Amino acid sequence: MARYRDAVCRLCRREGGKLFLKGDRCFKPSCAIEKRGTNPPGQHGAARRKMLAGYGQQLREKQKVKRIYFVLEKQFRNYFEKALRQKGVTGENLLFLLERRLDNVVYRAGFSTSRRQARQLVNHGHIYVNDRKVDIPSFQVKVGDVVTVKDKTVKNVHVEGAWQTAVGRGRPNWISAGAKDMSVSIAALPKREDVDANINEQLIVELYSK
Ligand code: SF4
Repeated sequence: MARYRDAVCRLCRREGGKLFLKGDRCFKPSCAIEKRGTNPPGQHGAARRKMLAGYGQQLREKQKVKRIYFVLEKQFRNYFEKALRQKGVTGENLLFLLERRLDNVVYRAGFSTSRRQARQLVNHGHIYVNDRKVDIPSFQVKVGDVVTVKDKTVKNVHVEGAWQTAVGRGRPNWISAGAKDMSVSIAALPKREDVDANINEQLIVELYSK
């Protein structure tokens, strides 16, 4: 599978805003957006900054959301097709499908400081759903599911640190603290207000509807 291997902060600069791809650093002054601003990366980045409209704007919005959730084009397109078949507003359905991915839930729950780290935890078998190991990052959680970290991993300094940070920052309303330490349960389905307000999902719908 193709993977992006360059510096992820370049992606934020390319999209002109923080995508929170790097964990704790995103909240510190060392964040590349804080230090260098929102011009596109590269020596002539500032000169390349253009006002976008129409197709360009729709394309950038799609790229931004793909990068936030760390999914590739084909998978993203599949999510869109699925969202289109569901009842309700297609753009919102798309975001809800992305939010319900297990790697996103692990990040939102506070077991990791970034979605990339969350995906690694899932891939390496550290995450359990309803007491069963699930190592598929795209697994869709449903209401009532209980997501936990493997017993041995609970003491991992990175996971513990991320958990403490999440307690301070708070979690979305649809994910509530579970009965055990380092466990969460899916209390409800996500709502639009639980998802990044800076996303304009309608632009993505327009792009794919051409
Ligand atoms: Fe983006 Fe985080 Fe890098 Fe800042 S530190 S540019 S928010 S990935």
